[in-house]
Formats: sequence, C-alpha cells, structure tokens
Amino acid sequence: MGRIMKSTPKNGQSGDAAAISAAGLSVPVEFKGLFLDEAEKVLAALGEPRYRARQVLEWIYRRDAPSFSEMSNLPAELRSRLTVIGRILRLAPATKNVSTSDETTKFLFRLRDGEAVETVLIRYRQWASACVSTQVGCRMGCSFCASTIGGFVRQLTAGEILDQVLRVQALTGQAVGRVVVMGTGEPLENYDATIKFVRLLHEPYSLGLGYRHITISTSGLVPGIQRLAAEGLPVTLAVSLHAPRDELRRQLMPVAKRWDLEELVGAADAYGEATGRRVTYEYTLIDGVNDGRREARELADLLAGHLAHVNLIPLNPVAERAFRPSPGAAVREFQQSLERKGVAATVRREMGADINAACGQLRRARAKEGAARGEGAGRTDRPVKGR
Ligand code: SAH
Repeated sequence: MGRIMKSTPKNGQSGDAAAISAAGLSVPVEFKGLFLDEAEKVLAALGEPRYRARQVLEWIYRRDAPSFSEMSNLPAELRSRLTVIGRILRLAPATKNVSTSDETTKFLFRLRDGEAVETVLIRYRQWASACVSTQVGCRMGCSFCASTIGGFVRQLTAGEILDQVLRVQALTGQAVGRVVVMGTGEPLENYDATIKFVRLLHEPYSLGLGYRHITISTSGLVPGIQRLAAEGLPVTLAVSLHAPRDELRRQLMPVAKRWDLEELVGAADAYGEATGRRVTYEYTLIDGVNDGRREARELADLLAGHLAHVNLIPLNPVAERAFRPSPGAAVREFQQSLERKGVAATVRREMGADINAACGQLRRARAKEGAARGEGAGRTDRPVKGR
C-alpha cells in the first residue's frame, strides 16, 4: 500500500545506473559511509520507497552485512539491482590480530587500494574502546611518533574509518562502546570525513553511540578546534600538548610553529565552554626532554584554573627515534606535582608497547618487513612525494 511503483526500464541495469547518475551520484554507489538522506536519494532514483534506504543501512551498519544478497527483508529483485549498482566496502585483516595482553589487540587492515591502516581495540570490563585511524600516514611530523615517518599517503573516507569499528567488533565479538580518534593521522586535517564518521556512529540506524563516548585527538590545529566547537557535537576534545612552553613544543611538534600555546589553550577553553566538556591534554613523557620539575611547574601554571585534565602517557619507544620513556618514578613525580597545584592528572597505562601499539608502528614494521623481502617500496609506506 502506498508503494511507489518501481520503474524497470527496458534496458534494466544500465537504466538504474543512469538514474543514479542523473540524481548526481556516482556509480557504483559506496553504501558504507552514506547518511540516511543520501541512501534515500539512491533508492528514490531506483524508484523504490524511502523506507528501503533505512533497511539497507541497518543491514550495513548494525548487522554488518557483507553483501546486498543477505538483506532478506528486501525483495530479491531489488537485492540483485543493488548488487549491480552498489558496493559495501570492507577492510581486510592484513596481519593476524596481535595481542599479548587481555586488554589490547592491534589490527592492521588492508584497504581496497592496497594501503594499510591500524586500529586498536582496548577491552575494559563490560565494554571495549576502539582507537581508529583517519589517514594513511601523517604529515604532522611529530618527532617522537612513528605514524609520520613515511609521510602522508592519503585521507580515509568516513566509510573506511567506520569500518574499522565494524571490523574489530566482528573479529573480536566485543561490542564497541567508546571510540577514540587517536590512531594514525590528524583528524582535523581530514575534517569532513572525521565529522561524518562521528555523526554516523551516533545515528540510530548505525551504532547509536553517544557523542560523549567519542574522543577526537588533535595535534593542535587551532582553526580546526574552532570549527569543531561550532559543530555542536559534545565529543571530548583531546589536545596533544607534550610541552608546556612554545620553544620546547616547537622542537617536538612542527605544528607548534603555526599556533602558540596561548592560542591553542584559548581555542581549547572555548571548546570546553561551547560543549561543556572538559578538555583532555595529552602529555607524552620523554626521558630528560619534557619530564623535569621545570616542565611540571610550567604545565601546572599553564593549565591551573582551566576546565582541563592531563593524561600522562609514558612514551612508547619507536625504533627510528632516540627518545626513551621516562622512568616510572619520574612519571609519578610529574603527576603528583600537577595534582599538588590543582591540575587533574592521570597516567595512561603503557599499553601494548610489545605489540607495536604506538601510533603507526605496526604499519611501519610491516613496511620494513616487506622492504627486507624485496617487495618494492612497501605499499604501506609510500612517501607523499610524487602524489
Ligand atoms: N594526530 C592526532 C591523533 C593521533 S596521535 C594527535 O596528534 O593528537 C594520538 C596520541 O599519541 C597523540 O597525543 C600523540 O602525540 C601520541 N603519540 C604519538 N607517538 C607516540 C609515542 N611514540 N608514544 C606515546 N605517545 C605517542
């Protein structure tokens, strides 16, 4: 009843493709990564009723259907037409899941073009947290980070970011209740795809995740933070600080040459005000570089009285870098001196150092293995040059 009659042109399948193109969409249609209104446009071009779009997306996001043929509440004829004009992307596991603790499992996934991305699943008691990548490689150039060593390769799409969550759920049988955008890449440099991903996570036809259970971590792109504040999404903002004064921060993070600490903390404060969310400052402790009494004092002075929280991260050593993690005693002392000055600080447990869990290390390890075996330049580690 009330069903729109389906138009089945004489030329059948190519008629569908033409109708989709005429609606301004490209064929094949990549369904994973579409919002409901976008999927409705596709189904409308096929002469199908609106509610079919929701059915298709529920299959893709909630039931993780690998193909249209599984969608048993759609007419068989529609399933075969969708198979012709549509695709459902799916990342392929590129390594065995590496896990040496009960809590952390690291995955390397192969993308359709042969590139690779890392995703980490961190298990807590009842729920799990997924750490997703937003780019293949990274152009930020932080001196202690493995992700940036091979340079930037390409942006991920919203569907590719979302599928990291779907894949770790499927491969581990664990429901993801929290998402941290803290894998490889700078999310605010891939702004549109990151926001689309975050919104998709929240949609009721998808995972229905609360925005409060999502954290976006940035190396400190001030205009991106301002744009995010205006977005009106109450996601937690994490700012990678790593140094309490500009001169030291500029040595560790090239991005600090563009915006100084005053601008950065100002933007983070404005974010906190706009969203009511306490900002997290990430501070990786590097032995003899940023972990002294002076830095603890400067950091406390910088953040005291702000709606902020410091997450101290013992450095994960990266083979290509000389930096060492601060000893446990220095970490505790640093934390205590922040707390004494009224700045909330927690220490992140060093997770997965033995499974290359620091950003970008698994992908690099694989690229190096490939190079050692003489597999060309290693598709997972292509520099940005010539692109
Ligand atoms: N580009 C974003 C998100 C990815 S990095 C950002 O910079 O925030 C996630 C966090 O891990 C950042 O705080 C980053 O500085 C930190 N990190 C990178 N390499 C690390 C290492 N070797 N040990 C510990 N933390 C590291």
